[in-house]
Amino acid sequence: MPNIIVQKFGGTSVGSEERIASVAKIVQKASLDNSIVVVVSAMSGETNRLISLAKSFGDNPSRREFDALISTGEKVSAALLAMALQQIGVPAKSFSASQISMKTTSTYSKARILDVDGKKIQETLDAGIIPIITGFQGITESGDVTTLGRGGSDTTAVAIAAQMKAKRCDIYTDVDGIYTTDPRIVPEAKKLDTITMEEMLEMAGQGAKVIQIRAVEFANKYKIPVRVLSSFESGNGTLISLEENNMENGLVSGIAFQKDQVKFTLHGVSDTPGMAYGILGPLSDANISVDVIVQNISVNGKTDFTFTVSKEDEMAATDVIHTLNDTLKFDDLLIDSSIAKVSLVGVGMRSHAGIASSAFKSLSEAGINIQMISTSEIKITIVIKEDETDQAVNTLHNAFELEK
Ligand code: ASP
Ligand code: MG
Repeated sequence: MPNIIVQKFGGTSVGSEERIASVAKIVQKASLDNSIVVVVSAMSGETNRLISLAKSFGDNPSRREFDALISTGEKVSAALLAMALQQIGVPAKSFSASQISMKTTSTYSKARILDVDGKKIQETLDAGIIPIITGFQGITESGDVTTLGRGGSDTTAVAIAAQMKAKRCDIYTDVDGIYTTDPRIVPEAKKLDTITMEEMLEMAGQGAKVIQIRAVEFANKYKIPVRVLSSFESGNGTLISLEENNMENGLVSGIAFQKDQVKFTLHGVSDTPGMAYGILGPLSDANISVDVIVQNISVNGKTDFTFTVSKEDEMAATDVIHTLNDTLKFDDLLIDSSIAKVSLVGVGMRSHAGIASSAFKSLSEAGINIQMISTSEIKITIVIKEDETDQAVNTLHNAFELEK
């Protein structure tokens, strides 16, 4: 039995009839050596078009109908790709989420995958037919259509790879791999041949957008190697590997950044047990994820408590904090929305001291002020002024010679 490889094609990869025809060639070629299962996104722009169409009958369309509507883009591309393959003599069949029982939770637009029926996919493969599966969607226990959140096709692909015990999941996109950082900010940024799963999780969590973070979480949980590569040009892309090869890993593998951040400071809050919980509990109840957190030592029983959230949560977080004013009795609430987060990521940090100090030295020489610092075993995150982001990323990229 040949090995199974799941190939996922993103929106730009299937963005036109011509693109679909060239994807069919990629699938045909790969099918000579392995059993191929394909997952597709909607043609580029299509999901956005459907989302704006949904606003035609009021600002708050039913969640069920919204997902029923925005999941249709993937059906179009799956059927078209099956036709394109058939036209070049490759047997293929499209499948929607319900046809392969891609079961999810019932939280519309944010559904989580629970289970998928591998039998139908296996039978199709056994019959010598390539299954082309719609990404981004599932069905509830009662058969209603759900979607997985923007970029969710990556997660569909990895979930199917896990279910089918595939040897790899190849994510085809419009860039040729994962870079040390965003090449639009640092032109010398270099494509990585490999990155570890752990590093990719940190990079994706800190703003690298090439692959959906939930897909990486899934891949890590089920130990599926993932490759990110271009459908527009040939090349091996970047392998997100399960193994860690310390000899090859540099100290720092990449730099991720996020500009759309907001910093909240509760000034003069009383330093008593339960204070952090009193602030973070209500925020988490409101589904707001808090990122960098700093609490300083207290003076006269009062302290400052600072945390960051992403800009889309600014209003909600402000509301929550205002409701806490009575119980927490802080002196002032300061909100700064002109900040950014920059993170250095690398498994090499585990075994090397001094990376933080080299980073801070280069930033100080560049005159960049660091407002907050948070670290983990393989990551250093700093919060700085938003308009210094590009300079900070370039400075750090240079300092660690990531272009080499
Ligand atoms: N078509 C969906 C989106 O645009 C899913 C995906 O592309 O992964 O978000
Ligand atoms: Mg995508």
